[in-house]
Amino acid sequence: MEENKSEDFSKYALGLGKLRRRRWFFWGVILVYVPSIWLSLRLTNSDRQTCKVFAVWYLFVFISSILAAATKCPRCGKLFHVNGFIPLYLRRCLHCGLHITADKKQRKKAAPENI
Ligand SMILES: [Zn+2]
Repeated sequence: MEENKSEDFSKYALGLGKLRRRRWFFWGVILVYVPSIWLSLRLTNSDRQTCKVFAVWYLFVFISSILAAATKCPRCGKLFHVNGFIPLYLRRCLHCGLHITADKKQRKKAAPENI
């Protein structure tokens, strides 16, 4: 899964950008869990109401995880985070090894030469 150094990753920028947005949405929803449950318990002081907040949060996690898992790799065209049945939200494509920020890294490396 060694990345070809001469490969132009800028052509994958659109697909990788979409992938990064979906990943941010997914991890953001997970990060919101503790504050939202804490706030709900604080404001409502009710387990029943907090259970409803949890149900909404769970729905968002479910949707965001499906969206992130269903995104295809712009290089190989296979599902970026799924190889088999279980999604793994790693930073590299599970099939071709394309890094989630390959286009940004290449742009940074190329920038000093352009000045
Ligand atoms: Zn791939």
